[in-house]
Amino acid sequence: EEDRELLSSEGTGEGQGQDAGPLPVVAVIGRPNVGKSTLVNRILGRREAVVEDVPGVTRDRVAYAAEWAGHDFTLVDTGGWSVDATGIHLRVAEQAEIAVELADVVMFVVDAVVGATDDDEAVVRLLRRSGKPVVLVANKVDDQRFEADAAALWNLGLGEPWPVSALHGRGSGDALDALLEVLPRVSSVGGAYAPGGPRRVALIGRPNVGKSSMLNRLAGSDRVVVDAVAGTTRDPVDELVELGGRTWRFVDTAGIRRRVHQTRGADFYASLRTQTALEKAEVAVVLIDASETIAEQDIRVIQQVVDAGRALVIAYNKWDLLDEERRYYLEREIERDLVQVRWAPRVNVTARTGRHLDKLVPALELALDSWETRVPTARLNAFLGEVVAGHPHPVRGGKQPRILFATQAGTRPPRFVLFASGFIEAGYRRFLERRLREEFGFEGTPLEISVRVRE
Ligand code: GDP
Ligand code: GDP
Repeated sequence: EEDRELLSSEGTGEGQGQDAGPLPVVAVIGRPNVGKSTLVNRILGRREAVVEDVPGVTRDRVAYAAEWAGHDFTLVDTGGWSVDATGIHLRVAEQAEIAVELADVVMFVVDAVVGATDDDEAVVRLLRRSGKPVVLVANKVDDQRFEADAAALWNLGLGEPWPVSALHGRGSGDALDALLEVLPRVSSVGGAYAPGGPRRVALIGRPNVGKSSMLNRLAGSDRVVVDAVAGTTRDPVDELVELGGRTWRFVDTAGIRRRVHQTRGADFYASLRTQTALEKAEVAVVLIDASETIAEQDIRVIQQVVDAGRALVIAYNKWDLLDEERRYYLEREIERDLVQVRWAPRVNVTARTGRHLDKLVPALELALDSWETRVPTARLNAFLGEVVAGHPHPVRGGKQPRILFATQAGTRPPRFVLFASGFIEAGYRRFLERRLREEFGFEGTPLEISVRVRE
């Protein structure tokens, strides 16, 4: 089993474009009327090529495919944002906060002639906290006379203000050159991996739960072994396997195939291996030996998946060994120990014989779909509006925190940001997560929900 020949990844025709991740996202933010939309049109050369809907806004077309000096990026225009899905008009700083959340780099536009206002200052504080790279555009510098106004914006502490006339084009090239200097090649807000290529699966679980048996069953003879890092380490080998009409990439299978010696420290190395497999994977199958009491270690592995933000399927293996009594206790153990991941699809299988392994693919697909689900902002806010109206946050110290607005800031896994007027208690957050799951599914994916309290 262990001495199989390894093909290099070149031999598989797979792996191209693997590090061509999502395009970097640039958000143009600033107060109304400072010239954001004018600047966006200037950058686009008035092309209005719409590429995608951007989460966080109710207006549809705000993100454009842009290019400067041969570098492609996604440009988000917040100029037309009227966030009133729930009748709430967000202040400039709040809109900016959403935009910053969605962007790799921010172009902050200030009207140089008017100078920095209190609203601008609020945005500056927010930008500092975010740690995101900022290009400060001093707009409406239509001619030399206003250069001094632009220079005054050094005071904002965001570095060099770039004097620009979005209307006439003056200075916009220099500002874009400055943008390229801080623009990453690949977006880090758009998810860990580019879509496309075989989906990446990690088979994990404590020793002896049946990982190697399952891998052998699934792979059969229908498998291509891929040395993930050809010519370097032989350890993290991936295998490509055809299942349910598509190719799947099982990551780091060498660790599964090589029997681990039960020496001191084996636990530590097992969990390290789980961690590296998870980093490469999109979805994890956690195997649990159903014939034995669920162990602390099983729960730890599941927690690792949730913490890594990967999609999750739980496979209860060795189903052939279960009698009525064990089945009864297993259900109770699951209720008791795994309530936190009640949302994970579950398959009951016998890896040794292959029984019910056909249920694995639909479960993986369901989990991955959920992992990539995007809820439109208007729908999200309409739904939360109803939930909150029917079940408001408890009053604390005479105050009742309200949810003002919510947006899905990302996927893989779904990431929600709630803007609230006060501290939202853990119990209420869990309630909201439960309701979100009831409404939108999300079977098989962890959800990240963060709350921003407005001061
Ligand atoms: P937004 O609300 O920030 O998107 O601002 P707009 O792009 O809609 O611009 C607001 C107003 O400022 C419009 O009347 C623009 O023509 C004007 N404007 C934008 N950029 C400039 C500029 O560089 N110079 C001058 N003089 N006016 C500008
Ligand atoms: P790993 O350490 O997680 O890779 O587990 P293995 O696949 O090596 O399996 C550990 C032991 O459990 C082996 O003796 C397997 O034959 C046995 N085993 C695996 N799957 C099943 C199953 O579905 N039913 C039964 N009865 N035994 C199984």
